[in-house]
Amino acid sequence: MTATATFDAERLQELRATFGGSILEPGAAGYDEARQVHNGLIDRRPALIARCRTTSDIRDAIAFARASGLDVCVRGGGHNVAGRAVMDGAVMVDLAEMKGIHVDPETRTVRAQGGVLWRELNRECAAHGLATTGGAISTTGIAGLTLGGGLGWLMAKHALAADNVLSVELVTADGSILNVTEQSDAELFWGLRGGGGNFGVAASFEYRAHPLPLVTGGLIAHPFEAAPAMLRFYRDAIADASDDLSVFAVIGHAPDGSGLKIAAMAVFHTGTEEQAERDLAPFRGWGDPLVVEVHRMPYPVMNTLLDAGYPRRSLNYWLSNFTTGLSDGLIDAAVERFASTPSPMNAILFEHFHGAVCRIPAAAAAVPHREEGWNLVLPSVWLEPADTEANVTWTKETQAALAEHLTERRWLNYLGDDQGADAVRGAYGPNYDRLVALKRRADPDNVFRHNHNIEP
Ligand SMILES: Cc1cc2nc3c(=O)[nH]c(=O)nc-3n(C[C@H](O)[C@H](O)[C@H](O)COP(=O)(O)OP(=O)(O)OC[C@H]3O[C@@H](n4cnc5c(N)ncnc54)[C@H](O)[C@@H]3O)c2cc1C
Repeated sequence: MTATATFDAERLQELRATFGGSILEPGAAGYDEARQVHNGLIDRRPALIARCRTTSDIRDAIAFARASGLDVCVRGGGHNVAGRAVMDGAVMVDLAEMKGIHVDPETRTVRAQGGVLWRELNRECAAHGLATTGGAISTTGIAGLTLGGGLGWLMAKHALAADNVLSVELVTADGSILNVTEQSDAELFWGLRGGGGNFGVAASFEYRAHPLPLVTGGLIAHPFEAAPAMLRFYRDAIADASDDLSVFAVIGHAPDGSGLKIAAMAVFHTGTEEQAERDLAPFRGWGDPLVVEVHRMPYPVMNTLLDAGYPRRSLNYWLSNFTTGLSDGLIDAAVERFASTPSPMNAILFEHFHGAVCRIPAAAAAVPHREEGWNLVLPSVWLEPADTEANVTWTKETQAALAEHLTERRWLNYLGDDQGADAVRGAYGPNYDRLVALKRRADPDNVFRHNHNIEP
């Protein structure tokens, strides 16, 4: 299918007649802006962009696509590196303008529509002294992130974003509008918490929210030469961390744009100021840091600290695997590889899993990754198209060089566009067969295929 697909004029007129949002054909004002997603490598032209305002808009857009014989793609926050929110020749069900958020402080719940970003949700929750687990930065969409599991600063304390979901308003391939809960349909509710966008369009999510006063967070940065020793210290120091403490380690670049290579620990603590000081003392005290910027702050501020490293429309190629541990061999190989990284925005990131996220059984929700340990991420970012080949090659070669320390387990949300069936299997892990059975029931025609697809 191509972007020049023609529609039955009467059918399109019928869609327009009641559509609450806007319908953008190629050439229309706003079309080019609406088809852009976070990753600047993605340049695709949908046949039609249905900028939905309401749940009925979503239902009608899906029905229009099916009646027209066109594929469906779904955009939440538009942040996914694979960019499948926008596909050539498809009807793009675009939720970017669905921004409703309602916090109920009595029940400590929040309902938010599928176009909401984490920074928007955090702000509304914080107005009531509440928070729920979102991503590590604030510009990602709640929809894609939650449907893919959703790891972030609060996962040791309150488990994954998906683990905090209480209900999902879902529009299915046949146009049904369901309020999916544990009680209404336990299997579908299970699949929505980690099965990606495979089962329908999530119009809104209801989350459990948690009281969260000020947090302690920030960055402790060391010279690159200290990376091997810092990562060894970090591995040992984080071993007995409480649920209040999360520390991700990174070999990266100074945030001032100088291109200076550094090794750093991004720290986060949900406890009282005294507890945080006690638990963070070893991290602050180790070695001879270049910078220690660790402060008390509201959670929504903490959630923006790393945003600047991931500008919109920057060029992105990411690979990730859970590791077999953080051995000396992995540390030394990662440091060696990083010395030749071609972009001053690249990093090697070690995301540590422990606490609440790991106490939930692997089969309790579709997202299976519950083991204590590390997710190693190669989130490569650059700005010039001429540098694409060098960065993609470096990222692939780095993953290959570290392979003996990596497992087949992958974080679904980080999968790119080219990573094949084995990587998708590695993301759904032991829950894959159960997800296939659910897909056969919920979307037998694979209408929702432009995702990390579970083939029915
Ligand atoms: C800089 C950066 C930081 C990130 N940090 C984290 C992190 O800390 N933790 C983490 O877990 N992930 C993280 N991610 C990955 C992120 O979770 C995924 O990219 C996620 O898909 C983003 O959601 P979105 O709604 O913005 O994406 P979109 O690109 O809009 O959607 C991605 C896919 O999800 C599906 N989808 C989206 N919305 C809906 C919906 N309403 N209903 C049904 N299906 C839908 C579609 O298949 C779509 O192709 C990060 C990504 C980037 C680029």
